[in-house]
Amino acid sequence: ALKAGIVGLPNVGKSTLFNAITQAGAESANYPFCTIDPNVGVVEVPDERLDKLTELVVPKKTVPTAFEFVDIAGLVRGASKGEGLGNKFLAHIREVDAIVHVVRCFVDENVTHVDGKVDPISDIQTINLELILADLESVEKRIDRSRKNLKGGNKQSAMEVEVLERVKEALYNDMPARSIELTEDEKAIIRELHLLTLKPVLYAANVSEEEVADADNNPFVQKVKEFALAENAEVVPISAKVEAEIAELEGEDKAMFLEELGLEESGLNRLIKAAYRLLGLYTYFTAGVQEVRAWTIRNGTKAPQAAGVIHTDFERGFIRAEVVSYHDLTAAGSMNVAKERGQVRLEGKEYVVADGDVMHFRFNV
Ligand code: GDP
Repeated sequence: ALKAGIVGLPNVGKSTLFNAITQAGAESANYPFCTIDPNVGVVEVPDERLDKLTELVVPKKTVPTAFEFVDIAGLVRGASKGEGLGNKFLAHIREVDAIVHVVRCFVDENVTHVDGKVDPISDIQTINLELILADLESVEKRIDRSRKNLKGGNKQSAMEVEVLERVKEALYNDMPARSIELTEDEKAIIRELHLLTLKPVLYAANVSEEEVADADNNPFVQKVKEFALAENAEVVPISAKVEAEIAELEGEDKAMFLEELGLEESGLNRLIKAAYRLLGLYTYFTAGVQEVRAWTIRNGTKAPQAAGVIHTDFERGFIRAEVVSYHDLTAAGSMNVAKERGQVRLEGKEYVVADGDVMHFRFNV
């Protein structure tokens, strides 16, 4: 399953946020592929399209798609030099597909800040520096290796060295690898290194309970937004403390509490949606009377592999898929009307699944 890792300095609210995530808890029976680990929380992805399809089909059961949040606590200044449990935590970050970086934007004298004052930009830079230093080490090692191969007149190695030198230069200037413009070929070279600063990032700006309704006017949040803009990263203001309280409520109580706070939607929902976008994921749907369900694929996935997300047998025995777009299906109002309108297509092995496709697979067992 795809994973987003939660990182940040100590005492910024990571555990509080992570507890809210696990409290809000997904029905784990629906997601047998997910990891069972105290540091991993499974979240369901809210999707209005799934609600609409449920109204249309009236199935016995509706199942959202899900991904995992991993709590990567313990990242401190000096991690790249092995401080704290440094290298172990960097290894955990290497395994995630995207990073949610929690930054402290709340002031509370009772909660110690590791550097003595609330300064989200300095916090971000502290963490980023550790990731950059770790990447520099990987890049330098690789450059040495490529240079050795260069002696044989290897063209590929020459290109590698050129790209790696550019990445090194950026890292030396405190710029993350994701900020460099690269061609597809260059990206392929870089990808092998599993660089930490190549992973997409979003900043979760943790604000106090009092400020959550008007978080955009919090000066710390504004600073984080400015910083993120330069990096092309997104910012989600959230109050970890409030989310922990919301996670304990259900149904009407939850709706009332959100209204009292002046919120349309829980911060956690906004964070989940933003992280899902950040992971660059697409959703397709299956819509039968037994179950209406959302499934996650990467952009560019072909029909058989998309079927394989449901079950490996579906991929192995794939014959073809009946496909209708979410928009056509909901505009038609029923599968039969969509068929009459000629909007249900038969697609084969080479079909690239689009976001929002409603799919029915034919396969041999
Ligand atoms: P972590 O070290 O990043 O995991 O931080 P924790 O989640 O353990 O939070 C550290 C302390 O900050 C705890 O005492 C939390 O109750 C407190 N805290 C977290 N979020 C907020 C918040 O939004 N406002 C206030 N006042 N305290 C918070």
